[in-house]
Amino acid sequence: MKAAVLREVPGRLQIEDVDIDAPAAGEVLVRTAAAGVCHSDQHVLDGRFDFYPTPMVLGHESAGVVEAVGEGVTYVEPGDHVVTCLSVFCGHCDACLTGRAFSCMTDESALARGPGRPRLTSGGETMNQFVNLSSFAEQLLVNQNALVKIRRDMPLEKASLLGCGVTTGMGAAINSAQVKPGSRVVVVGVGGVGLAALQGARICGAAQVVAVDMHDHKLELARQLGATDVVNASQDEPVAAVLELTDGGADFGFEAIGLPETTRQMFSMTRGGGTATVIGILPMGAEIPMTGADFMGAKRYQSSMMGGGSFRVEVPRYIDFYLGGQLRLDEMVSQTLPLERINDAFDAMSKGEVARSVVVFDA
Ligand SMILES: [Zn+2]
Ligand SMILES: [Zn+2]
Repeated sequence: MKAAVLREVPGRLQIEDVDIDAPAAGEVLVRTAAAGVCHSDQHVLDGRFDFYPTPMVLGHESAGVVEAVGEGVTYVEPGDHVVTCLSVFCGHCDACLTGRAFSCMTDESALARGPGRPRLTSGGETMNQFVNLSSFAEQLLVNQNALVKIRRDMPLEKASLLGCGVTTGMGAAINSAQVKPGSRVVVVGVGGVGLAALQGARICGAAQVVAVDMHDHKLELARQLGATDVVNASQDEPVAAVLELTDGGADFGFEAIGLPETTRQMFSMTRGGGTATVIGILPMGAEIPMTGADFMGAKRYQSSMMGGGSFRVEVPRYIDFYLGGQLRLDEMVSQTLPLERINDAFDAMSKGEVARSVVVFDA
């Protein structure tokens, strides 16, 4: 099968022929239909996440159709439509048993196979799987607990977004922050994840949703998807602008970029009694300056990871939201392109030109 392989970091992807194994016990072979291009993939390309070994097949936000199942798989059968999730859950660790399957740290997906049995190879060489998925390929071989079965009337191209970015943003608003009806909300950074957080806040009934970004075309899209106010931080001082628009600060602040400076700004944009939620992935060594004053007024500071919920509960719910018209995904797919043009998608993302690019595969 064709796959986009990363051989050097920092580097670009190259399309190669890669061999994929047959499903072992508990595994599922999926024909990839669509794969979103996420910032986490970019971080690996750039070398910001330097703990992933090469050669590696990137991609982790995908949807497809089950082709074959291994021994003992009962959750899906060939023909089922599925969304993949990177937080493969074991179902029996502390995190899984306390409703935090998104942070399951049991690497059962890889362990079940044992060493010396790579899922992906090329000429005998092991091709590493990114977060046990590797979506930038015509087929995926994954643990059954990395899959969510979905309605067949859901378009797979849109469903792929629920594998990472949309679930991360929607869940931050719905699960992690629990935005209340009538509240004031600010979202700093309206790429794919920020737009999803904005929509989650709108679905929760927020009265005001302020979008902050540096790009007018993203702010325009934010307006279409429910922002009541927008601030272009390249033109206006964003903290002062948001404090004025919200009459003293937002009840719920979200940062969806992953920069210390914008995180600091979002903290200041959130009022006393409010909840400041960091969704963006900050550089691992980053420090965010806070003062004693930040702890006056009983603000809550928290981070949100993978939407703070359980994929098999959240994804089908968000699909119902999409098919019911509340969650809008069509506008969030800026472009679709074939696997051969995947580097163009990364270039567009680096330039801040797109909400989401989706790689689509021939059926
Ligand atoms: Zn992602
Ligand atoms: Zn677990």
